[in-house]
Amino acid sequence: PAKVSIITIGDELLIGQVVDTNSAWMAQQLNLAGFNVHHRVAVGDTWEDIWEALDQESKRAQIILITGGLGPTADDITKPLLCQYFNGKLVRHEPTLQHLEQLFTQILKRPLTDRNRHQADVPDVCTVLSNERGTAPGMLFEKDNRVFISLPGVPHEMQGIMTKHVIPLLQERFNPGIVAHRYLLTAGIGESDLADRIQEFETALPGFIKLAYLPHYGMVRLRLTARGEKGEQHIISTLEEQFTLLQTYVQDVMVVNEDISIQAMVGKLLLERKQTMATAESCTGGYISHLITAMPGASAWFNGSVVSYSNKIKETVLNVTPETFTTTGAVSEETVTQMLTGILRVMNTDYAIAVSGIMGPDGGTHEKPVGTVWVAVGNAQHTETRKFQFRYDRMRNIEMTAINALNMLRK
Ligand code: ATP
Ligand code: MG
Repeated sequence: PAKVSIITIGDELLIGQVVDTNSAWMAQQLNLAGFNVHHRVAVGDTWEDIWEALDQESKRAQIILITGGLGPTADDITKPLLCQYFNGKLVRHEPTLQHLEQLFTQILKRPLTDRNRHQADVPDVCTVLSNERGTAPGMLFEKDNRVFISLPGVPHEMQGIMTKHVIPLLQERFNPGIVAHRYLLTAGIGESDLADRIQEFETALPGFIKLAYLPHYGMVRLRLTARGEKGEQHIISTLEEQFTLLQTYVQDVMVVNEDISIQAMVGKLLLERKQTMATAESCTGGYISHLITAMPGASAWFNGSVVSYSNKIKETVLNVTPETFTTTGAVSEETVTQMLTGILRVMNTDYAIAVSGIMGPDGGTHEKPVGTVWVAVGNAQHTETRKFQFRYDRMRNIEMTAINALNMLRK
């Protein structure tokens, strides 16, 4: 299969001001489409460094993807450099100019300046890949049997061009064959225990199917990937058989047999049953409801949240009794149970989640060290409570609390 290299350009990447999320996203998408990224490199906005990176990567790969350096500002030199590298000259690209004129007059409502107009100038030796989401188009060059594709650095724009043009074009030209994936999500079992449990399955897998472990916040996602030549449709049916078999090994710890998040799974179940939920969040400060409301369509099953960070709010809004705080403390089974009753009443939902914990770095005691979290989920008829003891930093403790609380509710 064709090898891919990714070059990211920008001084901001080298000083750590901007985290390079582009190459991670591109690598994931390429991987799903059947391509393997063999090398990645980041260089600053420097003529010599970019030139050298192009020379080097074309020795390593047949497909070289480049992001960044295409903005209208003066420090960006990628376009003139590509022009010289591929022996072209800059010419105005009419369709891009029309796109820019339309974008500025109709959407941005500002005049198109010369600086912006310059973004419609492209090397005459490239194929232009239109950028519906922005101003700088993508450009495809060919040299010595290699394909070079230059994309803007703005993630949203780069992603649009990748999806619309680059992936289909590479699939057409390099024929990576068939690639298919199946996913399942497990909870409550560590990566190594899971590996032990499915060792027999893994060893017996046919060579064209690979198993990957993708751990994330205390849950492990398993991915089966099948690869084959074009037309080898039996690969897909074998994948389905193996996926069914895999599920028999993990039945008791499986959350879902699709590539979706735990919050999406909760939403799906509630939607099917036409039910609703709400959250009362102390230590997570609304993070659970953020995870939920980041999904489109959540309003059909999510009513809202009370961020009861102070005891006063737990008391006045959720009716937690003052005695509870004095006898058991704010981080206790009694508190989250009362918070749950309170939020069910305030939000009038079928289900709710209530959490209270000590996220750190300070505030822990001997009996309740940092990372102690109480979670209550359920409704008036059936409530489940559970104590967790996380041992991470503040942000990760918050994330672990959210994911585990959602998983408790799912059950
Ligand atoms: P600016 O003038 O704002 O720096 P630019 O003219 O340099 O933009 P690009 O180099 O295409 O244009 O990058 C645009 C923006 O995209 C950058 O400012 C940066 O915030 C973001 N960006 C660039 N490269 C990456 C990357 N590899 N990963 C994530 N974001 C990136
Ligand atoms: Mg830049």
